[in-house]
Amino acid sequence: MAKIAFIGLGNMGGPMAANLAKAQHHVTAFDLSDAAVQAAVEKGAHKAASAAEAVKGAEIVVTMLPAGKHVRGVYESDVLPNVAKGTLLIDCSTIDVDSARHVAGLAQKAGLDMVDAPVSGGVGGATAGTLTFMVGGGDAAFAKARPILEKMGKNIVHAGASGNGQAAKICNNMILGVSMIAVGEAFMLAKRLGLDAQKLFDVASTSSGQCWALTNYCPVPGPVPASPANRDYQAGFTAAMMLKDLMLAQQAANAAGASTPLGAEAAQLFNMFVNNGHAAKDFSGIVKMIDGK
Ligand code: NAD
Repeated sequence: MAKIAFIGLGNMGGPMAANLAKAQHHVTAFDLSDAAVQAAVEKGAHKAASAAEAVKGAEIVVTMLPAGKHVRGVYESDVLPNVAKGTLLIDCSTIDVDSARHVAGLAQKAGLDMVDAPVSGGVGGATAGTLTFMVGGGDAAFAKARPILEKMGKNIVHAGASGNGQAAKICNNMILGVSMIAVGEAFMLAKRLGLDAQKLFDVASTSSGQCWALTNYCPVPGPVPASPANRDYQAGFTAAMMLKDLMLAQQAANAAGASTPLGAEAAQLFNMFVNNGHAAKDFSGIVKMIDGK
């Protein structure tokens, strides 16, 4: 049993903290929202009055926060000044690569092991404990983090040095954003050509157009019964989240001098979709905008 401080108990952090408590770890939880802390306490965590209080005496600190500025703020003000030597730091938030490497550098200066460990799998995966973790950090830090991550996920990938977990996450999601638009365009072209959606699916899913956005998450109703298209695009993964990740990819591409014209176009199209009032819809709903609706 480890003493774990968990900071950020939202849609993802709440169920992740619950899984650590279920695995008999001693979880001390903090969030700016009292309701989120209360929900974590009901799932077996112990309440802390502040982030600083939560991390005092912890052997492991897990953060699951919205963006880079929150992670920098919590690390600089609360975590680093208050943790004991030997504490392992795990940031599971999806943030920009620069912020991830910045806080990892601060941790290293303080003599602390740290990994960035963003996730995929959504709230369903967080609840079921089946998340994929993409982990950046040294070998020793990864080895220490692994058994903890295994209580929250089932696929744990060491992506390399600090920041590489974030890099893997945004590269993957850039593929997803671009491929969802490509699949949506193909279905809307098929519609106008009089080609039935199921027929296109039967061909493309067994041909060279095959991809995850098509076969697991088809953006039109029918071919894949579990996809959000069959429930009016009620979100599994919101358009706002996809836009966030595409913007992080663009920020990283600009900083690194990488050419990502399709990633840039996808970011623009999702920006338009979100600004048209669809931030909370599933990202696959962008097919409606492509359809001109
Ligand atoms: P969320 O908004 O539901 O939760 C974030 C929580 O952080 C909130 O409860 C908020 O009160 C808390 N918080 C903010 N600043 C804080 C601070 N200074 N101290 C303590 N608590 C603070 O977001 P989420 O959906 O849980 O996502 C968290 C992270 O996981 C994000 O980086 C997101 O991009 C990533 N992510 C989300 C999903 C998803 O499907 N929701 C999937 C993969 C990755």
